[in-house]
Amino acid sequence: MEEQNAVRYVLGKREEDGRYPVTVDDSPAGTVHRRHGSWYATVPGHRNDRRFNDRFQAAEFLVTLADTGIRPTVPTPGSTHTPARSVLSPLVGRHADLTYRHLIPDLRLTVSNLVKASEAMARLAQLGWTPLEGYPGADQPWLMACRLCGWKGRRFWSHLRGRNGDKTPRPANRHPHCIPTKEFPSKLATLAAERTRECPCEFKHPMEIREAMSTLSLIRCCISNGDTAATTMHARAILEPCPASTRRAIVLRMAEEHWAAALRATRP
Ligand SMILES: [Zn+2]
Ligand SMILES: [Zn+2]
Repeated sequence: MEEQNAVRYVLGKREEDGRYPVTVDDSPAGTVHRRHGSWYATVPGHRNDRRFNDRFQAAEFLVTLADTGIRPTVPTPGSTHTPARSVLSPLVGRHADLTYRHLIPDLRLTVSNLVKASEAMARLAQLGWTPLEGYPGADQPWLMACRLCGWKGRRFWSHLRGRNGDKTPRPANRHPHCIPTKEFPSKLATLAAERTRECPCEFKHPMEIREAMSTLSLIRCCISNGDTAATTMHARAILEPCPASTRRAIVLRMAEEHWAAALRATRP
């Protein structure tokens, strides 16, 4: 809590997930956290990848963002513990934006990371979890809700999916105080019945490789133009909750592999 006399931000206490809530002029402005030796400033609903040497520089950056009008557009999970549950249902309409903007991965916005996020979220659905924030990478705590009992908290994706290529979920490690393990299969079967092979959504998600390829090339184009806003907008097709998310993840992965193979073929 040092160095706060001449500054406009206040760094809150470290949350269990390692994030520090930050207020600027007494209003929530986002969080700062350390990852791989660098510090990052996060404003939910906005994307930035800048790295800082320490938490104070990162917090100072939130002051700059707040001055340009960039403030959290969805509740900061770390600071409020009330992630917007209502925006999680696969609703469409005026607030459909929120169903995927809060799922923008907490990673560099690349096609590869978006495809990984779609795969992780599809698998999460199979295992009976709802993500409450964007995919943070395999070895970072990820805020999610247990669909078997309603528990909310942070889990490591690498633990849930199994390690070293072992894709077997770890039911015993699900989380403390979940329903009895023997009830998992019937509950998961009920959830499985919600999933579909075709996308029934009003906003159509890619279900064929061809569609996935055009989605990805559009995004690749936005990224290479440095257009973060357009990238985020087109990420909807990949990140928005969809009952056919398993198939979507598969076609996105295939499209990504097609593209990589085509690229290799054009190189001398
Ligand atoms: Zn549970
Ligand atoms: Zn869909």
